Amino acid sequence: MTDDELDHCGCKVGRAIDAYGLRGLDAELRDRRERDDLSLRALANVTNTRILGAAMENADVDVVGDPSSVYEALTGDDVAPERRADVRDQLNYAGIDVTGVTDDFVSHQTVRAHLADCLDIDTSRQGVTDITEGREVIEWARGRDEHIVDQTLDQLRRNGELDVGSLDVTHSVRITCTECGSSYPVEELLDRGRCACREK
Ligand SMILES: [Zn+2]
Ligand SMILES: [Zn+2]
Repeated sequence: MTDDELDHCGCKVGRAIDAYGLRGLDAELRDRRERDDLSLRALANVTNTRILGAAMENADVDVVGDPSSVYEALTGDDVAPERRADVRDQLNYAGIDVTGVTDDFVSHQTVRAHLADCLDIDTSRQGVTDITEGREVIEWARGRDEHIVDQTLDQLRRNGELDVGSLDVTHSVRITCTECGSSYPVEELLDRGRCACREK
């Protein structure tokens, strides 16, 4: 298959390829998945950095930095709000529709669908391969459960089976090591990477 045939899949990734002229992105995604075994989240970052880079290139800005550091400033977890606002201002000032561009950013789920449905790449084969992906799957499951619990309680309340004010559901996951009995919130265990009993 040539790139031209791949460019028109119509999903969000395909539309971004068309809109921003991201030549070779499909080949790059395929390569980095199959050869480098990059996670879906990392592939979403690759895609979004290319989107941002194309938008910056069209606007001809080089004052704000290279696309990957600008992308990190816009989306990173550890970026100070003032720094993020500052970068957005600079991009807007350079004539870039920052909100439009960030709306075009894709999630790892979108990348998964694009790889599986549009490029026919098997995304199920290795399951969860690193802590980051594991964290995502667990967070997805936790959020979904929280939503189900919330809806159930809400129905009970509306049916008069439960007499309460408005509720806020928190569903947390704890993990216990059966060898030593230590127990951790799942995020803490993922951060630590090992149980206390393995540290000796
Ligand atoms: Zn697609
Ligand atoms: Zn243990």
